Amino acid sequence: RLGRTLTLSLAFGIAFSSAWSPSSTAASPMTTTTTTTLEASLPLELLAETANSFASAHGLQIEKRRDDGSSIFECAPISLLPNAYPRAAFRQAQTVAPYFNTLVDRISRDSGFLTDTLGGAVAQADPFTAQLLRLYQQIYGADENHTDRTFAQRADRLGIHRSDYMLHENNAIKQVELNTIASSFGALGAQVARLHQHLVTRWDDGVPDNPTLERLPLAMKIALDRFERRHRDDNDNNSMVGKTSVLFVVQEGESNTVDQRMLEFRLWQDHKIPVLRRTLTKLGQVARVDPTTGILYVDDEPISVVYFRAGYAPTDYPDGDAGVEWQARATLEQSIATKCPSLGYHLAGTKKVQQELARVQVLERFFPDDAEAVTKMREAFAGLYSLGDDASAEDLAAIRAVLDEGAAGRFVLKPQREGGGYNFYGERLAAKLRENVVRDDANPETMVLDAKLGEYILMERLFPPTQRAVLLRSGRVEGTGDSVSEFGCFGTIVCDADGTVVHNEYAGFLLRTKFANVDEGGVASGFATLSSPYLC
Ligand code: ADP
Ligand code: MG
Ligand code: MG
Repeated sequence: RLGRTLTLSLAFGIAFSSAWSPSSTAASPMTTTTTTTLEASLPLELLAETANSFASAHGLQIEKRRDDGSSIFECAPISLLPNAYPRAAFRQAQTVAPYFNTLVDRISRDSGFLTDTLGGAVAQADPFTAQLLRLYQQIYGADENHTDRTFAQRADRLGIHRSDYMLHENNAIKQVELNTIASSFGALGAQVARLHQHLVTRWDDGVPDNPTLERLPLAMKIALDRFERRHRDDNDNNSMVGKTSVLFVVQEGESNTVDQRMLEFRLWQDHKIPVLRRTLTKLGQVARVDPTTGILYVDDEPISVVYFRAGYAPTDYPDGDAGVEWQARATLEQSIATKCPSLGYHLAGTKKVQQELARVQVLERFFPDDAEAVTKMREAFAGLYSLGDDASAEDLAAIRAVLDEGAAGRFVLKPQREGGGYNFYGERLAAKLRENVVRDDANPETMVLDAKLGEYILMERLFPPTQRAVLLRSGRVEGTGDSVSEFGCFGTIVCDADGTVVHNEYAGFLLRTKFANVDEGGVASGFATLSSPYLC
């Protein structure tokens, strides 16, 4: 009940037990031991009220649309206190961020790899990925290195990526996924870290500074500057310096607008860069590419950088396969503007690519001369298994474990989707496999996988340590209970048309916390809350 005294204990599970035992249950097998007790003895309601007010004062808000078309803003879902997080894991995620940035860039230029990985079973089972791949092939062609390059091929690339990790056995970080499009909550992640710093200032440097609000706009500025220096206006051959805008491609009815607006406002405040916000549907009417220069115009404003916060879900294309939104996506992509992400970067972030990268010798294809990068990235990979026609003996063994050994609790089944809420766990996972795997009674070793499974991957389930947490929704305490966290590490990259890296760095973080008994994640989808790491 509100009003009781909360022992503000990051001791709320600040230490992780090293005892880890694999388990097939959904509950986390990690036990938490409390070694540090940081007591503030503040009433919970005072803390919650302070958090809610701080959130309002600092834009830690989401937008709620009312039926009459007006909006109100309210406190984003947050964890009241930061969550204990091992400093070594935090550092490791920072260290590998530039490697993953480079990896995405190299994958995006390897149309053979993308076509092999996504063009077969995945494209057959998933029309959305098929459409993205088709557009990528049309625009970037089979060979990016021929002399007569298209505008898109001559454009720079900008990546704003977020690699998500869960702590697993021995507190090692394991990558849940790598987001290359619409990687969100950079801005709100910075503000929740500020809130937590505010609430725990008694304990110096527990919550690290979160530089997303400087570094995400900085990457856009670097991309914009390069564009403006390199390109000239269509008709008059005038310099573009100081003339272009950044286009934010957004969803209709988005609730996470403040996270986007904060980047927009910082672009103006810090760099005097204007932003236009448009939906793909609207862009179908107002975007055009100058046929001589390849420059993209939106309502006659020249655009240097296109930043997608939409376009990753089939629902972002309501007009269907040959509809106005896909045409708009093609128009943007075909221009010489720097896309964040380009289609290649977008595809490099698919779950099928993640699974393919975990196979032996695949990372080496992209980092032939950098064994350290390969080792560091591979360390962060969890077990990943194909359900397509490329399934190996090891992949089939994982399927067999689910079907024959009741091991569904050790895996997660994932389609090629973004945004949270699409995965299969436990009994639903087992049922999905049972329905789509045909066994030969005489020879149970033989399995035939239905083509429908081609768009899914199977992933080892991660069991992060649990900690007590107080979660707030709409500015009010939703509950107190055991929680698990997912650490998101931002990275930004700018590459020229040839893959030369202009800028590549770690760019901040996001911790998302949810109650331990909730399978699915995602803040926007209503499962998780925003939090920050308290390094220990
Ligand atoms: P999306 O692109 O939809 O965010 P994710 O791969 O991040 O897809 O999965 C959504 C959520 O499912 C994650 O935030 C996490 O909470 C949970 N999840 C995904 N993979 C695993 C895993 N291997 N082990 C445990 N939980 C997972
Ligand atoms: Mg994702
Ligand atoms: Mg995710």
